[in-house]
Amino acid sequence: MKLQTTKYIFVTGGVTSSLGKGIISASLAKLLQSRGYNVTIQKLDPYINVDPGTLNPYEHGECYVTEDGAETDLDLGHYERFLNLPTSKANNVTTGKVYQSVINKERRGDYLGKTVQVIPHITDEIKRCIRYLAEKKDFDIVITEIGGTVGDIESLPYIESVRQMKWELGHENCLVIHLTLVPYLEATGELKTKPTQHSVKVLQENGIQPDILVLRTERELSEDLRDKVALFCNVDRKSVIESINVPTIYEVPIRMKHEKLDIVALAKLGIPEGGEPELKPWKSFLKKLKSPKYEVRIGLIGKYVELKDAYKSISESFIHAGVMNECKVILDFIHSETIQDSNVDEVLSGLQGILVAPGFGSRGLEGKIIAVKFAREKNVPYLGICLGMQCAVIEFARNVLQLKAADSTELNPETSYPVIDLMEEQKGLTKKGGTMRLGAYSCEIKDDSKSFQAYKQTSITERHRHRYEFNNKFLNNFEEKGMKAVGINPDSDLVEIMEIPDHKWFVGVQFHPEYHSTVINPHPLFVAFVKAACNA
Ligand code: GLN
Repeated sequence: MKLQTTKYIFVTGGVTSSLGKGIISASLAKLLQSRGYNVTIQKLDPYINVDPGTLNPYEHGECYVTEDGAETDLDLGHYERFLNLPTSKANNVTTGKVYQSVINKERRGDYLGKTVQVIPHITDEIKRCIRYLAEKKDFDIVITEIGGTVGDIESLPYIESVRQMKWELGHENCLVIHLTLVPYLEATGELKTKPTQHSVKVLQENGIQPDILVLRTERELSEDLRDKVALFCNVDRKSVIESINVPTIYEVPIRMKHEKLDIVALAKLGIPEGGEPELKPWKSFLKKLKSPKYEVRIGLIGKYVELKDAYKSISESFIHAGVMNECKVILDFIHSETIQDSNVDEVLSGLQGILVAPGFGSRGLEGKIIAVKFAREKNVPYLGICLGMQCAVIEFARNVLQLKAADSTELNPETSYPVIDLMEEQKGLTKKGGTMRLGAYSCEIKDDSKSFQAYKQTSITERHRHRYEFNNKFLNNFEEKGMKAVGINPDSDLVEIMEIPDHKWFVGVQFHPEYHSTVINPHPLFVAFVKAACNA
């Protein structure tokens, strides 16, 4: 840490959701980091679930898992991919978590004699969660993104907490950036500022004057428009920042630098600009991303494919791995329920690589198994992640070991060949929230494997999110017939990686490599998989 006191930046959103607060937060953080500051980003989510782990991906997109095993919002994935730094449990706070903690304190008697209320108890807890991050890790700057849109009933305690922090710590230590939309009306050919003005008014009614406005737009903002927004929203002219649509989210930091978002923020916080941002590796990544030499088509077989956000980290990992291979990865999202024995050749031919995605429950599972069989028999490079590894195991058991009834006990508890079975420590559990095998675990890799060729080391750690595992009782049968356990957890003996050495590239991993892939450090397994697909 180089600053005496931590500075806080809050990012709120107005007009509509999905404007990209996460990307703006991550981009600003990237710029501040590249100027030498120690920055982290936190997400406050106004829903009542304690964490998104129990949410269907259709509701909320992917659930991102941190090193310390928290199930969190997918924006944390962006933070890690941009900053190349791990986040933790403390980086995602939900209303459920805040209330749970306050209610636990009330039951313990911490507030004895007092009426427990939203103000001050809930707001105090929110402020504690924001400050906790700074105190724990000595960050120079904590960027806190507030989920939802200002004006939502459930956001109010968060907005009030921001107001209080500004008042308590002083304006020089707290900054509010408000992200809004400037829509373009085709009929009149105009960009409209009124929604932004209204949204800023809502913030002002709640006692907050935003310091910086970031305006999402499809068209360039004129000087006049910027002047108008500045005047009517009561911010200075250079604090009106344009965020125009760009072809890739990885361009946003460069755009924000061009708009001087970092310089304006630093000036308002009264801290030195530091050096010119060191963005060389980032820029060279962008350059390669924009001018790939090759193209490769990979099928992502999953059951939440209608919502691309459900596989966010996987898609981003392919972008990173593609750049490493100077190759554009075209991802074909294929619904596993559409794959049958009768059409598999037609649906999957033309793919140079097949990935079976993580997932839960039996819907679409048979289609995934058919896809694995296709990849195995046709020698198409295959990467199976979590359920995708389990499907590879089931397929091999049924079609190579000829154990036709082989299954996972998640899908068929009565199967006579439970090749995938519940982990011992899971057997007595009834509660669903936060009870899976979660977070980082170590794995030892055999050095004669494809995985070793990718990682170039034998000891790794990767993040997990599952209840079921490979059943070691069957391991000999698998290895005799050509599917090898090449990655093993040294503490529990759980199988973490299965491979078919005779295949061009067939790797199934029980963990989630996609949570470790960043712009600066693309994940070695994805890089190797894309390379194998390019050579297919
Ligand atoms: N449903 C499987 C399990 O719980 C796989 C989970 C996953 O793919 N993340 O073990």
